Amino acid sequence: MELTVLGSAAPYPRPGIPCSGYLVTGGSGALWLDAGPGTLAELQRHARLPELDGIWISHLHADHCADLLTAFYALVYADQAPSAPLPLYGPQGTAARLEGFLSNAARSPIERAFEVRELHDGQRVRLGGMELESRSVEHGMPGYAVRIDDGAASLAYSGDSAPCAALDDVARGADLLLCEADGDPPADGPRVHHSPEDAGRTAARAGAGRLVVTHVGPFLRPEEALGRAASEYAGPVEHADAGRAFSVG
Ligand SMILES: [Zn+2]
Repeated sequence: MELTVLGSAAPYPRPGIPCSGYLVTGGSGALWLDAGPGTLAELQRHARLPELDGIWISHLHADHCADLLTAFYALVYADQAPSAPLPLYGPQGTAARLEGFLSNAARSPIERAFEVRELHDGQRVRLGGMELESRSVEHGMPGYAVRIDDGAASLAYSGDSAPCAALDDVARGADLLLCEADGDPPADGPRVHHSPEDAGRTAARAGAGRLVVTHVGPFLRPEEALGRAASEYAGPVEHADAGRAFSVG
């Protein structure tokens, strides 16, 4: 299995660094995991949309899904029409959210682009020879983490989430944990993200083989996040640099 970082900036894209988005290839398939702004362009360095087996969206914050809007144009009005609508796994309300943005006078034909399948906790699906298990996590809104297994290797992705038992389950014994490390928790209000130390602790509790930190927020430098995550986890820790590929397992 291979994980390619299309982008990891949070919560807005920077020059040469799109927001959250990843290409996962494994089994016989290819999966676009989160579609943050800028990732559709980078995706095309590796695959055309019709070559994907599906798209999986962790939650409906714009920094994780906004490129679905222009992917729709590519799929429906341009030269990347799929032979069948692309399976799109996303939280409750995904189809309505896209419709809301994409509709002009008439209803937009989003079903020509996407076959939307709503995620639920514990959902298991098989896509392109990869087994995906989605778990509901803590982000103050419907949000999911995913474990992807292709029979040879396993990858866990946090989406955006505070530390929680469901994410520990997703990450348990995974060869690679791709975990957000947005920054320090707010002084008040509920926690909805990981700090770098949290990412290290989640990786350690789960016994993940390797930690890749991503979605490092605007008030932290990636090197700083790496050092802080490594203080809580003895295994290898790396940053999800845009354009970098990691082989998993
Ligand atoms: Zn978010």
